[in-house]
Amino acid sequence: MINHPRIVNIEDYAQFVGAETVARILGKARNLRDLHVVNVNSTYYGGGVAELLGSMSILMNSVGIKTGWRVIQGSPDFFSITKKMHNALQGGEINLTDRKKEIYEAVVYENAIRTHLEHDVVIIHDPQPLPLINHYRKRGPWIWRGHVDLSAPDPELWNYLSPFVEKYDAVIFSIKEYTRELKTPQLFFMPAIDPFTIKNAPLSEAEIDERLEHYRIPTDLPLVVQVSRFDHWKDPQGVVEAFKIARKEVDCTLVLLGNVATDDPEGPEIYESLLECQEERIIILSVQDTALVNALQSRAAVVLQKSLREGFGLTVSEAMWKGAAVIGGNVGGIRYQIEDGVNGFLVNTVTEAAARIVQLVQDEALRRRLGEAGRETVRQRFLLSRNLEQYLDLFASFETNFTLKRVPGSN
Ligand code: UDP
Repeated sequence: MINHPRIVNIEDYAQFVGAETVARILGKARNLRDLHVVNVNSTYYGGGVAELLGSMSILMNSVGIKTGWRVIQGSPDFFSITKKMHNALQGGEINLTDRKKEIYEAVVYENAIRTHLEHDVVIIHDPQPLPLINHYRKRGPWIWRGHVDLSAPDPELWNYLSPFVEKYDAVIFSIKEYTRELKTPQLFFMPAIDPFTIKNAPLSEAEIDERLEHYRIPTDLPLVVQVSRFDHWKDPQGVVEAFKIARKEVDCTLVLLGNVATDDPEGPEIYESLLECQEERIIILSVQDTALVNALQSRAAVVLQKSLREGFGLTVSEAMWKGAAVIGGNVGGIRYQIEDGVNGFLVNTVTEAAARIVQLVQDEALRRRLGEAGRETVRQRFLLSRNLEQYLDLFASFETNFTLKRVPGSN
């Protein structure tokens, strides 16, 4: 007999969400047993979508839904175009030439040729693989899951993309603000975290020390941390500015930890430009080490996610789960995780961020109060078991002609 390593299953969540919730989820999964589902996105690591798919695909299999995960391949010019699209969907500018559309559609078509999708349900994530739907005869519903902040997309780009979107049987966005005018039914599922990964499971103080020492991160002063892809929307420059203002009043060390996703060609340049800000108390790190993410979020006096646009922002829930005091940009999905002054702070400007850093570094009791409330928020609303149940409800809601019987309840 082969001995497999143990994987997380839904019963493991009972300690956080209760046995009744787990039993309800298992009951729903039983009715869908052996359903064959596939997810398609454009990077196997780096960024929240890969993080979600890694855990969700395993959890779904553990309840009997045969769930796969495919990643499309593309040339650097394809990813340069799709990153421009990503930026323009979040309100940036794009020069949408015919050439760009041709490259985008041709690369997606090549992926369609080599990706055989004959599943009962197909879930396509984000704009990169969106046009795949043009190249298949559907055997079941196709769902488009848009993860970006769609509150103000570039109109020309949205006009170009929306005919692809309307071919899908359902669309999922993270929050209601991203509702678009579409013929397709729209649902709202917020992402969630897996509490059992190396990134999110509890670490001992000794393990935290070991990780921080390994990267020579000083622990003599309170740590102010942001963990994010190197991306302008995450406003790393704003974090450095806020830190410099705060440091006039309190002693602390800033750590910006970032990585670069394979579908994000802008990262290296942003990382390089940040290195210019590096000094003794401003540490800029680009490494792929999930235990380090955990150690920093667990030890930090303050965790920032000072985004200017944010589809959801998994790092916010990750930090709250560790009881960190979190300061988030007052945008997109961050607003659904942080209730200002209750389980963290929301800020609109660099100056506001600086003032909150000072306040939190000076007030340990406040940090503890916000941190405890933050962990409870995540326990109630942002664990992956909730997201799994939403998917099960959605799968159960499709009629045989792939239309939705009813739009299942959202968050
Ligand atoms: N992340 C990481 N290492 C880093 C930076 C980010 O593992 O150096 C992870 C982070 O912990 C989170 C994900 O990447 O799980 C980012 O997801 P989020 O929703 O915050 O932002 P996105 O990158 O999808 O815009």
